[in-house]
Amino acid sequence: MAVIFLHSGSMAPEISRVKFAVVMALSMAALVGAAVGAAAQTGSQPATPARGRAAHPFSSARTPPLVIPEQFAPPQEAYASFSAAGGAAPEPTPPSACQMRLAKIAVFQALGTLVGPGDCGAPDAVQLQAVVLPDQTKVTVTPPATLRCAMAEQVTEWMRDDVAPSLAHFGPPLRALDNFDSYECRGRNRVRAAALSEHGRADALDVRGFRLADGREFRLVDINVAKDWREKTHASACARFSTVLGPGSDGYHEEHIHLDLAERRNGYRLCQWEIREPPPAQAESTAPSPDETGAVEISADEVPLPRPRPMAANLTNSRAAKKSESK
Ligand SMILES: [Zn+2]
Repeated sequence: MAVIFLHSGSMAPEISRVKFAVVMALSMAALVGAAVGAAAQTGSQPATPARGRAAHPFSSARTPPLVIPEQFAPPQEAYASFSAAGGAAPEPTPPSACQMRLAKIAVFQALGTLVGPGDCGAPDAVQLQAVVLPDQTKVTVTPPATLRCAMAEQVTEWMRDDVAPSLAHFGPPLRALDNFDSYECRGRNRVRAAALSEHGRADALDVRGFRLADGREFRLVDINVAKDWREKTHASACARFSTVLGPGSDGYHEEHIHLDLAERRNGYRLCQWEIREPPPAQAESTAPSPDETGAVEISADEVPLPRPRPMAANLTNSRAAKKSESK
């Protein structure tokens, strides 16, 4: 690498200068070499990611640890605790019986075993991307849901056999499932130190609703959505899943429906989802109006009261609001 030019004439000072340069170059090289060696041994992060990848002695030989989609991944120690992170490359595992069945009715990616942190994790997990309906059209799961295979299979069958047929008479085909949450390492209802949620076992899915091809949304908790359809969906969900939580259950499920396959003693199942009434405007329209029926009998407690003063009106309203909140 170093090219040394020797000149004729006064050689002595020239040579000593060259010697000095060579010594300096060698010692610099030694220092750099030692630093690189130390970095490789301790596994410390290189200064620049692009160079660091190539410098890492195991980077090409080792299979990267299993990656959970970022939106579901626990924020901190998760990556460190995957079993594959420190060991040899894992053997490619053949698809499970569940995956073989699921492959015929859904689009998914096998994730293998999810491990930690703590008690979180699941065997045979998949990322469910779409449900394939009997007519081969696909219903996208947005965003894709990370679930253990058995749960993914149950969700897929529910969509194919119950949800899609129940929406068929609304016109356009079903296109998407609105996934609110799937695998996430956390306590129940996001409460710290609470018992581990089924979400931490990849055994739960929070569903907000469904979307048809024309963009219409069918939200499960929306009182404007046809009540008989919501009732039908409630019945089919409670028949398939051992836990169904919705509005009226515990205050944490007013915006979505929680589904899971938790196993309990004596096969106990939890089906707590209150189907709320449509807005008053629709309910009133079905009641007979005074014009149609002539004289309308008014019971004593329905006798109109004088208009309340503003202060009193506010009080009454806030009481009514509180009452409905606590339901
Ligand atoms: Zn949930």
